[in-house]
Amino acid sequence: MIWSADLVVPVAAPPLQGGAIAVRDDRVVAVGPAAELRAANPDMGERAFGDAVIAPGFIDAHCHLEWSLTVPSATADFAAWMGAFLAMRHRMQAEDHSAAARLGALRRLAAGTTALADNGPTGAGVTALAERGMRGIVHLETFGDPAPGEASESAAARTAEAIAALGGDGIEVGLSPHAPYTVGPDLWAALIQRDELAGVSWSTHLAESPAELRWHHRGDGPLGEAYAPLGVVPARWGATSAGVIGALEHHGALRDGLIAAHCVRLEDGEAEVLAERSVVAVHCPSSNRRLLCGRMPLARLRGAGVTVALGTDSPASGGPFDLRVEARAAADLHAASGEAPDAEALVRMMTTGGASAIGRSGDLGALAPGYRADAVVLSRVPGLNAWQATIDERAEVRMTLIGGAPAWDRENPPADTGPIETSAQGIREGLC
Ligand SMILES: [Zn+2]
Repeated sequence: MIWSADLVVPVAAPPLQGGAIAVRDDRVVAVGPAAELRAANPDMGERAFGDAVIAPGFIDAHCHLEWSLTVPSATADFAAWMGAFLAMRHRMQAEDHSAAARLGALRRLAAGTTALADNGPTGAGVTALAERGMRGIVHLETFGDPAPGEASESAAARTAEAIAALGGDGIEVGLSPHAPYTVGPDLWAALIQRDELAGVSWSTHLAESPAELRWHHRGDGPLGEAYAPLGVVPARWGATSAGVIGALEHHGALRDGLIAAHCVRLEDGEAEVLAERSVVAVHCPSSNRRLLCGRMPLARLRGAGVTVALGTDSPASGGPFDLRVEARAAADLHAASGEAPDAEALVRMMTTGGASAIGRSGDLGALAPGYRADAVVLSRVPGLNAWQATIDERAEVRMTLIGGAPAWDRENPPADTGPIETSAQGIREGLC
């Protein structure tokens, strides 16, 4: 099958006017001018999208499918938000996690996302992604609470068993130690030492807020106060380094290829440490802005050679399910700094950057021969260059394709959309 459109944004090659993509089975076999591809593939049918933009399916490098039913609390900063969020989280039942994950997957698919890195405590994302034919990694999130008297080694063994039990449905399962302040050095080390966890993807929240840094430095302040009602004392990593990232590196806790959300509060030299460990930093600008966390030092990270991807986080902290909204939020957030990423850099963050995060470079995140035929078709806004046209708010997602087949179609949305939305609304009203 040939897909053609007025504008094709392969990402791996310059944008094409009047371009096309030839797809055989679930992979791209050629990209080029439509006329050339038609002549070279006379046996192929054509789907002509006309006045549209075809881009690679977007890859959300940090999200929480299981928090899709939450709403942002009215409280202002990170620690106050965390307190309100934890109370809401503890009201959720197993079926609520599952309904939330289904809603989160569907909404992201409708926004052009074809693959993602999920983080959640029950692993409900596995079924939700498989059901939609989406790709990605579900990171089972641990909040590092060994049972009273339980050794870290035994808690780590339990986590490894839970991850092994979740595998299946073609969805990769990884591990997310939630953050250094909820998973302390002993448990983190025990997790690293487990052979079963050596080959899986790891994801965490890193250097997110001023409250986290204050806790790291002094062991007091709003983060401790947010956890106190739960009887939890956040973990500390010792005064080995000015920053959290340096402390993790000192303890051998920064795994190569770690997916690290936020990376907002960096000390000197920490961007270089992330680069050395091939950590992919995930920018979640809506969340950072709502929780008053600050602004990711994007230019510093990229200058040090760190791959930066884009994530939606969750509605709990203001994320909108939609990576294109995050791209525009990033442009706004950095505008005053004079180092705002341009549209091309933003599209790369949400495609090839995301592919790096989930370990699928060369397979996902671009439209090039040999890559999976995962794509989004957008309505075309006239007068914009190809990169701007991909993230412009007036461009609507017409279709999302995975492995060459439509997975979401605006003209003909999946039949279960209504029931999923209705069920989600009911649960949300009970929770919030
Ligand atoms: Zn998060």
